[in-house]
Amino acid sequence: MSNAIASVDHDVLLFDLDGVVYVGPNAVPGAVEAISAAVLRGVRCCFVTNNASRTAEEVALHLRELGIPATAEDVVTSSQAGAGLVAERVDAGDVLAVGGRGVWEALRERGFRPVPAFDDSTVAVMQGYGPDVGWRDLAEATFAIRAGLPWIATNLDMTFPTPRGMAPGNGALVGAVAAAAGRSPDAVAGKPEPALLLEAIRRTGAVRPLMIGDRLDTDIAAGGRLGIPTLLVMTGVCDEAGLASAEGHEVPTFVANHLGCIESGGPLPLHEPGRWQTTKEGR
Ligand SMILES: [Mg+2]
Repeated sequence: MSNAIASVDHDVLLFDLDGVVYVGPNAVPGAVEAISAAVLRGVRCCFVTNNASRTAEEVALHLRELGIPATAEDVVTSSQAGAGLVAERVDAGDVLAVGGRGVWEALRERGFRPVPAFDDSTVAVMQGYGPDVGWRDLAEATFAIRAGLPWIATNLDMTFPTPRGMAPGNGALVGAVAAAAGRSPDAVAGKPEPALLLEAIRRTGAVRPLMIGDRLDTDIAAGGRLGIPTLLVMTGVCDEAGLASAEGHEVPTFVANHLGCIESGGPLPLHEPGRWQTTKEGR
């Protein structure tokens, strides 16, 4: 089998986080070694996350605690990409911020003033996940959206895993506002929409990026829709049956059991549909 394309052929590696680099607070086995080796070879590693609640600095701190050399400049969150979508629609002003610190900080980075309530000076709404988002926040968002303001969602993940099971994600809370406002968000930043990856490509200046993720319907689909090669790692939510039924943009370019395939910088294991079960040994 010919594997002509190596991880070292890509100038920037875009990593999803949960299920790829870590699961909860702990690193995925082998991930720290593989990413550190890529960084030592001079490959830019950039971490892209749909999680809007944490700031880029908080994510980078978590990565450094795991042993991965990362700074805030190596992290792009859906809040940061979402603030970029706000900036495409309004120049400046007060933006109703529904979400955690990540949402507020990303708006400030773009020169907006995040505010907790809607009034005549509000120019847009940005909604992302935050553990303290409550009814009053959703009501403020509904008032603003019904008044005609642009509405940006950081991501539409319906659920996310917690130690006690699956919990409502930003998509579920956006759904509550959509039901009350009678319409959907004007734009969504997170995967599988392209804005998050485009923001990461813009910030890193990537020419030949590789998107690495564990979810077909977000990570792989986002890369596929942009025509970026994708590497699926089987350390997260995707199982063999899911991979076998993948179609269209959700079909990855490469498949591996874990990130060990990027450690050497050598050839990446091409995905050959239908052959995963018989060829996965040694990947
Ligand atoms: Mg993931």
